[in-house]
Amino acid sequence: MTISRRTSSHSLLDNSLRNFYAAAEEMGLEDKVIEVMSCPERSIQVSIPVKMDNGTVKVFQGYRVQHSTACGPSKGGIRFHPDVNLDECEALASLMTWKCSLAGIPYGGAKGGISVDPDTLSMREREAMTRTYAARIEPIIGNWSDIPAPDVNTGGQEMVWIMDTISKLRGRWEPAIVTGKPSSFWGSKGRRAATGLGVSTCILELLKTQHVDPCSATAIVQGFGNVGTYNALFLQSAGVKIVGICDITGGYYCKDGIDIEKAMAFTKTIPYRTLEGYSQPGLVHMSREEILEQECMILSPCALEGVITSKNAEKLKCAYLVEGSNGPTTPEADVILDRRGILVVPDFLANSGGVIGSYYEWVQDLAGAFWTEEKHNRRLNLLMKENFRKVWEYSDTHNVKMRRAAFLVAIKRVAEAIELKGFFL
Ligand code: GLU
Repeated sequence: MTISRRTSSHSLLDNSLRNFYAAAEEMGLEDKVIEVMSCPERSIQVSIPVKMDNGTVKVFQGYRVQHSTACGPSKGGIRFHPDVNLDECEALASLMTWKCSLAGIPYGGAKGGISVDPDTLSMREREAMTRTYAARIEPIIGNWSDIPAPDVNTGGQEMVWIMDTISKLRGRWEPAIVTGKPSSFWGSKGRRAATGLGVSTCILELLKTQHVDPCSATAIVQGFGNVGTYNALFLQSAGVKIVGICDITGGYYCKDGIDIEKAMAFTKTIPYRTLEGYSQPGLVHMSREEILEQECMILSPCALEGVITSKNAEKLKCAYLVEGSNGPTTPEADVILDRRGILVVPDFLANSGGVIGSYYEWVQDLAGAFWTEEKHNRRLNLLMKENFRKVWEYSDTHNVKMRRAAFLVAIKRVAEAIELKGFFL
């Protein structure tokens, strides 16, 4: 490769650039295509003034990055978190490009968010912030240009506010402009559980390749939000024993298994829906770091990025790591896991159920006709299995790790689209 490589002081962006360059080099991608793909097409930063309940005005910073529209309108979530910044959005937007490409759905990748701790806001402040953010990114979003969705700390309510704000600004209904809306309001039945269903489908497919009966498998799921809860729930209903769960209040381990339905019901009774105070016989409370190092067959990180690092990769006691969250493993940790024989199913394959569910919602919104939950889940399940097989077989026949295999398959489709269209605009 003769072109200079981009690097970043932001670790997630730097990791994603390193993963991309390594795969691009391995597949012999042309320099011009590498250069185009290593830069986002469009990034914006917006200021969001909000009148707070105490009468003061606070200005939050919001972002939207569109990494690629080579294969279709860009697609990706919006997160509310104090760590959100432009570099993080760029890294996560490129991951969405690979995710949508690999999934075989007609989208490119984007990501956005607001740097804020949403738990400090009242409902009124949260609504005002979300609507003003929507209005400020309005010029660049649209059902054929860029389609936001939920991500960390956002959900159906925020998506309805965004859809309603854009619809009012444009003077017409814009239901397909965001996905992840409640199923009662232009959303899709099954979308809420889609990411978790997709992760658990990958885990069960993986067990098949290893000839392991799910009833003899144990799992620890880190993160008890939308992804982690449904992942754990679907695994449990397939017979897998969930020995550990975790949220911001710590890790909860029980060698005899945790009743996920009971734990989910418990969180609904607690402010901010945490596991604080959850108990059952034999349950041990520990730190969020310790839970990752407990004995299990499958470890599935389903919270934030950068939790599996060179510091703890040596200590993991799992056979398989299946990434439900985006970017949970650093490249240094990847090398250690590889040496230790821990098989990794990469994020943009394992958690693609969310955006596949979003795609189904968009299709229904554009058609104005809605599916049953059974149809949604059946189609999601089939596509996840097909995508898992695609990566598994590529990895097997080319003797590369699954992350590299997934990158190679995903990059190839985007590169072909760029080559076909050329470089105009
Ligand atoms: N936030 C989810 C993800 O990272 C879903 C994105 C979408 O549905 O557009 O995959």
